[in-house]
Amino acid sequence: MSEASRRFIAGLALFLAAGAGIGWLYGHPDWGLLVAALVALVWQARKLLSFERALRTGVFKAFRYGEGIWEQLLSRFRFEHERGTRYKKSHRTLLREVRKSTNAMPDGAVILDANNEIIACNRAAKRLAGLKRKKDRGQRVDNILRDPALTALLQSDDYKSTVEMMSPVTDGAWMNCRVVPYGADQKLLLLRDITERTRLSKMRRDFVANASHELRSPLTVISGYLDGLADDEDMPPAWKRPVTQMRKQAARMRQILSELLELSRLESAGPAKMDQHVDVHDLIVEAVEALGGHANTAIVTVEAESIAKLHGNAAEIETVIVNLLANALRYTPPDGEITVSWRSGTDGADLTVADTGEGIDPEFIPRLTERFFRVDRGRRHDEGSIGLGLAIVKHILARHDAELIITSETGVGSVFRCHFSPDRVVIEPPVSLAGGG
Ligand code: ADP
Repeated sequence: MSEASRRFIAGLALFLAAGAGIGWLYGHPDWGLLVAALVALVWQARKLLSFERALRTGVFKAFRYGEGIWEQLLSRFRFEHERGTRYKKSHRTLLREVRKSTNAMPDGAVILDANNEIIACNRAAKRLAGLKRKKDRGQRVDNILRDPALTALLQSDDYKSTVEMMSPVTDGAWMNCRVVPYGADQKLLLLRDITERTRLSKMRRDFVANASHELRSPLTVISGYLDGLADDEDMPPAWKRPVTQMRKQAARMRQILSELLELSRLESAGPAKMDQHVDVHDLIVEAVEALGGHANTAIVTVEAESIAKLHGNAAEIETVIVNLLANALRYTPPDGEITVSWRSGTDGADLTVADTGEGIDPEFIPRLTERFFRVDRGRRHDEGSIGLGLAIVKHILARHDAELIITSETGVGSVFRCHFSPDRVVIEPPVSLAGGG
């Protein structure tokens, strides 16, 4: 109990006792007590009313210097009130500073609740994505930024992947979207401006495509003359070897140019269309018939566990199979084995090419799909090797919402698995021969 409370109780008790004492002098202690109690009640009621007035009006003069319990109460209240005001002010200043700094950020930041509704966003989010802090508060962000990939990212718990999309408000601007968990049940959608990077990579793509295209015509002319020379029976024998070499290198250059053009095409194309049903099993059988079965090559086995078809581009899937199989044949000795398999399940479908060849050092595996990357440029297989095959495979798979998973062990063999997501896989019901009877 505080000093003021103790003094209040003691004063009240003393006052009531004095009332009762005076009453007793007149022969009515009970009357004396009652009168004292009434006086105390009226006194406290007055204090209560002026206390309430002081709180309501903010004028504390009546209580300024007193020592009683009401004065104590009021001074406590004023202390807490002033502290609250101070806190509020400092929080407001802090909030203003945070808002100023987030507005100064070149990247967009959008705070979302558990339903992906906008709680707040900064100025860059307005510039990049057209989001308005006040008008769009409470709106679902995927209703404003309409992109299926972004919607999927927002619905998943994937906080590592990113989605690139065109800005809906600034012409030619591109942004990279990423979601990070934030606070309790909130998310932060980060929008990074990648316009410059996208412009540079488009410039590079266009340059490679144009250069490849321009080089094709002179190379065709050179190849034509070389072919003519090779067919010329009067050619001096000393020229035979150089001409053969030149024809070989010209053919290699033609292949490089056509693969570079194919890569450029794949890079600028969007996702593969969903209207074709690709019979992967048939393509595997055709590729194995075309490439396998030669003397001095490993034996190729086909394992088709699935009749599932694929939504996608048949010519591109054929390129994937041919590239992976050609690699397996190139890097597997004749006494080795190669298995090409096709399986499907609820998790999607897998096209796998496994070999018992020389394998790949784990440190090189992440780099295999880079353009012109070859594990060992001095190897004997380098004749037909360019280093663009797996880059093409990766791009084709990306267009088919699939990924390439490579596992390998040196001296044991390699497995190249193409994993397709379930919405790319079609299981057609078997055709009934009963004719409806
Ligand atoms: P290329 O076959 O034209 O050289 P790729 O992009 O298809 O180009 O392959 C890149 C590199 O990956 C190859 O040079 C080779 O070193 C390695 N590689 C690909 N497939 C296999 C395989 N099945 N076994 C061992 N190494 C492989």
